[in-house]
Amino acid sequence: MGRLFLTTPIYYVNDLPHIGHAYTTVIADAVARWHRLRGDEVFFLTGTDEHGLKVQRAAEANGLSPSEHADRTAARFLETWKLLDIAYDDFIRTTEPRHHQSVQAFLQRIYDGGDIEPDTYEGLYCVACEGYYNESELGPGLTCPIHGRPVEHMSEQNYFFRLSRYQQPLLDWYAAHPDAVQPESKRNEALGIIRQGLDDVSITRTSLDWGVRVPWDPAHVFYVWFDALINYATAIGYGEKPDRFDAWWPAVHHIIGKDILRFHCVYWPAMCLAAGIDPPARISVHGYLLVGGEKMSKTRLNQIHPADLVADFGVDGFRHHFLRDAPFGPDGDFSYEGMVARYNSDLANNLGNLQARVATVVDRKCGGVGPAPRADSPLAEVVAAAHAHADDAWRRVAPSEALEATWRIVRETNSLLEAAEPWRAEPGPEVDAVLGDALEALRVVSILASPAVPYAAAEIWRRLGLEGRPEDQRLPDAVRWGGYPGGLQVIRGDPLFPRKQD
Ligand SMILES: [Zn+2]
Repeated sequence: MGRLFLTTPIYYVNDLPHIGHAYTTVIADAVARWHRLRGDEVFFLTGTDEHGLKVQRAAEANGLSPSEHADRTAARFLETWKLLDIAYDDFIRTTEPRHHQSVQAFLQRIYDGGDIEPDTYEGLYCVACEGYYNESELGPGLTCPIHGRPVEHMSEQNYFFRLSRYQQPLLDWYAAHPDAVQPESKRNEALGIIRQGLDDVSITRTSLDWGVRVPWDPAHVFYVWFDALINYATAIGYGEKPDRFDAWWPAVHHIIGKDILRFHCVYWPAMCLAAGIDPPARISVHGYLLVGGEKMSKTRLNQIHPADLVADFGVDGFRHHFLRDAPFGPDGDFSYEGMVARYNSDLANNLGNLQARVATVVDRKCGGVGPAPRADSPLAEVVAAAHAHADDAWRRVAPSEALEATWRIVRETNSLLEAAEPWRAEPGPEVDAVLGDALEALRVVSILASPAVPYAAAEIWRRLGLEGRPEDQRLPDAVRWGGYPGGLQVIRGDPLFPRKQD
């Protein structure tokens, strides 16, 4: 039994939820579900980032107050996560009093330690990022590397975090914690940024009100990023509940996209060191989810909203696609055609077909009563290997690999049935043996696949005649071969995943 504090980024309420947000969140949710199956103590956090200039401007443009604007968008995220069956333990909003209190305590601590000081800053600033860039980081014509739009020259008097003092401490910390950032390519990217040399960063603004007040100088509010990162500390009681904080920190695992790598792998660990706490233990960084080869953005009008795809593929079809289709780490390219192909091959033709054919043959040949599996079934070894591989892959945040391993059971079971052809045979011990094996394989798959396809997993479980729910089972005992008792009434039901036209 372990303990896992797992987080998604908190999403900026300037955007409505799209499949990029859903991609990260479904991965985190599935990893959390896997750890719950293992019996680990899990605290899974998501939420919304609600401060900053962009929110203030967007609210003004819509004739709303910033808090009304934030309320409306946060509600859309909550609805989306409900739709996608995201089983978070806490949803944090940065406008909550608990967060203001925690941000003030955290940054006061750094200020008291001498690493936040007043200064004048002049630099190249991307309004969309709300961040400064070095000239070397910009694209052609001094454009933002993320937004591709020209940056602006800015000069202001505010408070700075002395990030420059943390170059060596960060390098030392990463040398001592070689697995802290994964995959390797993203760790190298983080180290590259640190080795280039770190400039101090301006962390307050006087030009807007929509943020957390600086406790020692209330004319300033904290710049949105520095307030946002602290949400991870707020949610576990930073400054309020030291015992709770110590129980969960630093064994935190952040799941993020590569666009926020600099903030999470450089700024945030340095802030933690400056505040006298350990940096986060693990950060898993995925690539972009591209649409037609391009990053999704509001300005490109290529954002896809999860509800549109759920209408066509169901919640399980949606979740399975984004977990299974692209490996975690590199950029992945989304296409509707690819989603149809994945749905048909994995869900309709493999898992759905297996459940349907087994239930049909049990109905015809065994009077609808499921036989018990063989102790020496050839599938026993397949199941043991798949479980071991899936466990390793989920713990490394490699969901596509974990599901590939799980689906090996489905494919091997379909092969076993095709070789034995119990639908042609006379009822008897041979038919019982192969059907018992197939029922047991389905039982195991419904547990192992439940982090990805929770509704179908529960429905397969129910149709096998089993009590309870797959997500309440505990690994590894629950997937030891032979758990299906036999003698249960098997339900046929409608197709779990009706095939899509391609
Ligand atoms: Zn930008």
